[in-house]
Amino acid sequence: MKELLKKLCEMHGAPGYEDEIADFMMEEFKKSCDKVERDRMDNVIAKKGEGKPIYMLTAHMDEIGFVVKYIDEKGFIWFVTIGGFYEPTISNRRVIIHTSKGKIFGVTGMKPPHIMEEEEKKKAVVAKEMFIDVGAKNKKEVINLGIKIGDPITFDQKYEFLHDNKVTAKAIDDRAGCVVLIELMKRLKKFKGTVYAVATVQEEVGLKGAQVAAFKLKPDIGIAIDVCIPGDHPGIEEKHSPIKLGGGPIIEYIEASGKGLIADPKINKWLEETANKYKIPFQTYVGSAGMTDAAIIYISQEGVPSTSIGIPARYIHSPVEVASLDDIENTIKLLVAALEEGYV
Ligand SMILES: [Zn+2]
Repeated sequence: MKELLKKLCEMHGAPGYEDEIADFMMEEFKKSCDKVERDRMDNVIAKKGEGKPIYMLTAHMDEIGFVVKYIDEKGFIWFVTIGGFYEPTISNRRVIIHTSKGKIFGVTGMKPPHIMEEEEKKKAVVAKEMFIDVGAKNKKEVINLGIKIGDPITFDQKYEFLHDNKVTAKAIDDRAGCVVLIELMKRLKKFKGTVYAVATVQEEVGLKGAQVAAFKLKPDIGIAIDVCIPGDHPGIEEKHSPIKLGGGPIIEYIEASGKGLIADPKINKWLEETANKYKIPFQTYVGSAGMTDAAIIYISQEGVPSTSIGIPARYIHSPVEVASLDDIENTIKLLVAALEEGYV
């Protein structure tokens, strides 16, 4: 599981450019599932079992990223962001531009602090003032490298182990969920009905992959597996998020103060009872910001009772997200146990 997460976090897939991850998920699912397919949007859909009820579990493959917008005469590359960034986290980072000729390394440049006015230093830097420097002298050199308008860009960040079974990487949101799906399908043995594990595309830009997959699969029950914000570090008060890293999977009741998912209470009761029965630690959460694939699955078709399971992750939507491997393992255990017990 450790190796799987490392591999997945070091892969690259801005929204709409999830190919590398989709290829990998296809191969992993093939090892344990009855059927694996890729739909027209590039969602990877793995199936195990037959008949009712139909469970649809999702984790998204995309990570927040950028796209080349303009190359100037001096060889600097300007970009747009895709997905929800706090823009100062983009400044002075190493990035990779994914071109048809391969990966090109660069950095996000900006004005150095030495020549900023005092007032400027106090303001948060915005993405539209940043550019990418690949070392080229002019526009021609950039084009000769194979870079063109529309190429996706992601952070260049290594996966690393921290103390106490914790890890840091980019894209833990939501490659941790992808790991849960792979392991879940591998470990799931005796259950009733059909389980679809769907690795979705374009979650970060409006839950788009999950929307078309739910239309196709007509599930009876939807569960999104994504990351959730803990409130156990400086800068957040516990009353805003009582979630703790290492405290176990999070059963979510409400996302984004009701603008997102309002989870089905019966599904949450089933998950909580299973967790208690198997002595798996878990946490419960009512959110005021952020949405997951479950928010679109539950209003698809004629309505699909759904919930969202969160893996606690600190500093999400930055290149230094932090998660606990224990939480990921307990999320897998909870879902395997719940599906084998069955939802009635
Ligand atoms: Zn996510």
